[in-house]
Amino acid sequence: MLPGSRRRGRALLAAMSGWVLATAFAGTPVPEPISVAGTQVYTGPALAQFQDPQAVRAWIERSAGIVAAYYGGFPVRELRLTLEPEPGAAVDGGTTFADPAARIRIRLGREASEASLSEDWVLVHEMTHLALPDTGESHAWLSEGIATYVEGVARVQAGNRTETDMWAEELRAMPRGMPGPDDAGLDRTHTWGRTYWGGAMFCLMADVGIRTRTQNRLGLQDALRAILAASGGLKSDWTIERVLKTGDAAVGVPVLEELYRRYALTSEAPDLEALWRDLGVTRAADGVRLSDTAPLAAVRHAILSPR
Ligand SMILES: [Zn+2]
Repeated sequence: MLPGSRRRGRALLAAMSGWVLATAFAGTPVPEPISVAGTQVYTGPALAQFQDPQAVRAWIERSAGIVAAYYGGFPVRELRLTLEPEPGAAVDGGTTFADPAARIRIRLGREASEASLSEDWVLVHEMTHLALPDTGESHAWLSEGIATYVEGVARVQAGNRTETDMWAEELRAMPRGMPGPDDAGLDRTHTWGRTYWGGAMFCLMADVGIRTRTQNRLGLQDALRAILAASGGLKSDWTIERVLKTGDAAVGVPVLEELYRRYALTSEAPDLEALWRDLGVTRAADGVRLSDTAPLAAVRHAILSPR
C-alpha cells in the first residue's frame, strides 16, 4: 500500500539536500514556481521532461489543495518538489525533508497522465508529513500513521476519493496494524504494518474518541491543525508528549495522551471489530457496506465532511 514511501532521514539530510538541489537546478534558472493555496511550489527538473506537463502540474495543484483544505492552509509557504523521472506512468514513492527547507523528492513516470495521476495518494501522503513536528525515529508510527490516515480522509473531503473506497481500504488494511503475539507497543515495534496501519488505527481511534467526547463538535482534524499552528510542522523538533498535549489542549479532551499510554507504551490490542460495528462499516462482497443506523454513523459522516 505504501511502497517506497519512507520517513525522512535527518542524517542523510545535509548531504542529500545539497546534492538534490544541485542536480535538480544545475545550470538552469530555477523554474517559475507553481502557486497554490498561498504556497510557492518549485519543481525540478522542469515539467517539460514529462510527456504531459499539464497533467503533472494539475496533480501538484490538486494534491496541495487537498492538504491545504484539510489543515486550513498548506503547511509551508515554500516547497521544493524534486521529481525524479523514470519509465512508466506511475507515482513510485516519495520522501519528505524539512531542512534546510521543505522538500519532497518523488519518483514519477515520464508517461504520467491525468488518468494515472487522478487517484494518486503518494503526493498527498508526503505533503501531510510537512504538518507534523519531527518527534524522532521511535515515533515514526505517529508521522506515518497520520500521513496514511489523513491522506484517506482529506481526499474524501475534497471529493478526490469515495467514502466507500476509503472505508473499504481501512477495513482491509488496518488489521495489519494490530499487535502480533510478540509485538510491543507502537513506540517499540517498528514493523511496516505497525508503523503505517498501527499508526493509522491510532488516528482513527483518536478521531472517533475526540468526536464522541465533544458531542461530535471537534475531531482529530482540529487537533492536527492546532499542532501545525503551534509548531510550524516538520521543521520543528518536538517531543511526542508535547505534540499530543498540544492536540489534546486544542480539543479539550485528553484523547491523544490516553490512547498513547494504551497503544504506544503497551501492546494492548484495540477492539477493531467493535469499532467497525459502531461506525456502521461492514464487509460486503464488493468491499464495504455503510449503515446510517449504526451508533456512530454521525461520527463517521462528520469525519469525512469538508470543513
Ligand atoms: Zn510517509
